[in-house]
Amino acid sequence: MTDIIVCLTFDYDAESVQIRALEEAVRVSKGQFAVKRGLSRILALLEKHEIQATFFTCGWTAEQYPETMSEIVSHDHEIAAHGYLHENFDTLSVYEQKDALQKTHKALEKIGGSGSVKGFRAPYWRLAHNTLQLITEMGYIYDSSLMADDRPYVLQFSDIAGKLVEFPVEWFLDDWPLFEMKQTSPSSVFEIWKAQFDALIEMEDIPEGYRVFNLTLHPACSGHAYRIRLLERLIEYMKAAGAMFSKMADVAKSILAKER
Ligand SMILES: [Zn+2]
Repeated sequence: MTDIIVCLTFDYDAESVQIRALEEAVRVSKGQFAVKRGLSRILALLEKHEIQATFFTCGWTAEQYPETMSEIVSHDHEIAAHGYLHENFDTLSVYEQKDALQKTHKALEKIGGSGSVKGFRAPYWRLAHNTLQLITEMGYIYDSSLMADDRPYVLQFSDIAGKLVEFPVEWFLDDWPLFEMKQTSPSSVFEIWKAQFDALIEMEDIPEGYRVFNLTLHPACSGHAYRIRLLERLIEYMKAAGAMFSKMADVAKSILAKER
């Protein structure tokens, strides 16, 4: 029996990226696919397989589409922060970062309730040097934007009380570059993700509780018909292998308990 934990994470941007960049109508509509079709397909798939997942959501998206957020929360999924308007954090001043983080936190807590937001993923996986300190000060317990390992690790900053669990990401574990930038075939994407999942199970250098398969998905991308079928095939494969599916905040809490 394996001890692998699968975190399915969905970056729910909607058209925040395009609104901030003042893009034209067709590009805006591509972002809106997440709201109009992608999200409901993903929620139905997760419900069918009784899986709880994490939705990294922009504050603007939560304000714009509160009914979709209530849908996510009513299925017992986790909502985590993903910038306000999908900002590039490395281009923001400290003041601007704090403003985006706090506005997002407020918008998400309005949906999920006080104390419900525990984690952050940087839009575009781009961080300023002090962004992770800022979220630790806000009481967040995890981030999922860095790439220094293939298992979660713990960050601690001088003069800040809390610890932060980092769930590293990778380009080959993200639907967007594979499908939207490289137009990789579904069978190739399945093979890449399966190969990494299988290999993680066998790695002897990963202790129990840290064997985490972290997949970054987007409703605007994986919500398309043939990709949803691929995602279901992957879920069925991972379930058959004995994987446990978990929300990221729950895994972060168990790691912090071990690190105490
Ligand atoms: Zn995003």
